[in-house]
Amino acid sequence: MEFCPDCKSIMIPKQGVMVCRKCGRKVQKKESGPMVSRTNQLDRVVPVLEEVSAGLPTTRMRCPECGNDTAYWWLRQLRSADESEVRFFRCTKCSNTWREYD
Ligand SMILES: [Zn+2]
Ligand SMILES: [Zn+2]
Repeated sequence: MEFCPDCKSIMIPKQGVMVCRKCGRKVQKKESGPMVSRTNQLDRVVPVLEEVSAGLPTTRMRCPECGNDTAYWWLRQLRSADESEVRFFRCTKCSNTWREYD
């Protein structure tokens, strides 16, 4: 429930803004989260590991950045449980991180 800053009357939502029933004052609606689709972003952003590769297994994988042939890897489930897990790699040398595309 929103109240008018001027006259303290109840405000009603109208065309994206809150409008006071009594004095007609308009106030921007409170932000209700990011406008961009989070799912889209998640798909592109490679998650940053909190711990610096601690305890991660390594595999032979060529780093696209420096050509090093060993990388840490881990699995990360994206979006919903219905979708398959995605493998991420992090170069042991330059810490470049990328995801596996198939
Ligand atoms: Zn008012
Ligand atoms: Zn590298």
